[in-house]
Amino acid sequence: MASSANEWRPFVSRLVGIFGGTFNPIHVGHLRAAEEVAEQLGLARVLFVPAADPPLKRADGQALAPAADRLAWVTAAIRDNPLFEASALELERKGPSYTVDTLRALRAELAPAELVFVVGQDAFVDLDSWRQPEVLPTLAHFAVVTRPPGGGDLPDWLPSSLAASCEIDADGQGARHREAGTWIRRLEISALDVSATDLRHRLREGRSVRYLVPEAAREAIEKSLSYRGTAEP
Ligand code: ATP
Repeated sequence: MASSANEWRPFVSRLVGIFGGTFNPIHVGHLRAAEEVAEQLGLARVLFVPAADPPLKRADGQALAPAADRLAWVTAAIRDNPLFEASALELERKGPSYTVDTLRALRAELAPAELVFVVGQDAFVDLDSWRQPEVLPTLAHFAVVTRPPGGGDLPDWLPSSLAASCEIDADGQGARHREAGTWIRRLEISALDVSATDLRHRLREGRSVRYLVPEAAREAIEKSLSYRGTAEP
């Protein structure tokens, strides 16, 4: 987990996964995505970065649990995985949580490590609505994980803000940023049709979320009244 132990070993991966999300709440879909990306790419570690104030989710009218609770659930959920770490970076920053700010800060902090931003296919197709989308792939590689219903080759869902600056790979499963030399790669992972939206529905109705959320965080999530009685579109 600690990078200092690895610094003298040049063969150790310099790729650090950055897994941004609302984690409202964290669920098994998140954990498998991080685990499978780490395995497929040989990542040195994966940093889970909960958004304190996610502008797009706020606009959606989602019932949002307090950031400190969401961070605590993530921390509990990943405790037994030596490769995983939780980051309070976006909670410590004032204002809306923009990924571009986070990647800039982490690049400075973690250099010479290279960052791999882990994102689900559903979120990646919406990248044009993020702040400075054209800058994002110059700051990190992108591991775009499949998510049900999924499907399609990368050219079908490459955000238009990136189309001009990226060269599509011959196999249609990835792209390379011409100037930055960074890559975007679609990674096939186990299809787990689990979403935080569905979990909030279940919690609101007092139904079970066992085996859908990590056991270490389940009680805290269930006890949290955050989602009860809060209507959501
Ligand atoms: P919500 O239902 O509230 O929109 P969510 O389940 O999509 O939430 P987020 O915290 O918004 O969870 O997701 C963080 C990242 O994890 C996003 O990039 C998302 O695409 C990805 N992700 C979430 N669930 C899965 C899943 N089941 N399989 C693959 N990727 C996932």
